[in-house]
Amino acid sequence: MQHLDPESLSLLALGEELGDDAAEHLRSCAGCAAEYASLRRAVVAAKPGPDTAALESPGPQVWAGIHSALGLSPPSPPTRWDPRRRPAPHQPLRRHQNSRRPGP
Ligand SMILES: [Zn+2]
Repeated sequence: MQHLDPESLSLLALGEELGDDAAEHLRSCAGCAAEYASLRRAVVAAKPGPDTAALESPGPQVWAGIHSALGLSPPSPPTRWDPRRRPAPHQPLRRHQNSRRPGP
């Protein structure tokens, strides 16, 4: 029996119906079943869903480690955030202030 080609396995992993022949082969062939299972895992992992929400959010020590690894200043603790002390959060970037504007 001919094995399923990678494209068919990918489609099956994505939930496509490829007919009874493909399904039957998948049930009877350990090699294709293993390939399908690994592709299926990748599809499930990449798909946003309830599993993603169950992931733990990184703690402050993780961010501190990232900042330290990148050579950035340590992140401020979230308790110091007070929107009233920062009245202009939507201030436009000043990066292009000095760039020449194209004339009409
Ligand atoms: Zn096979």
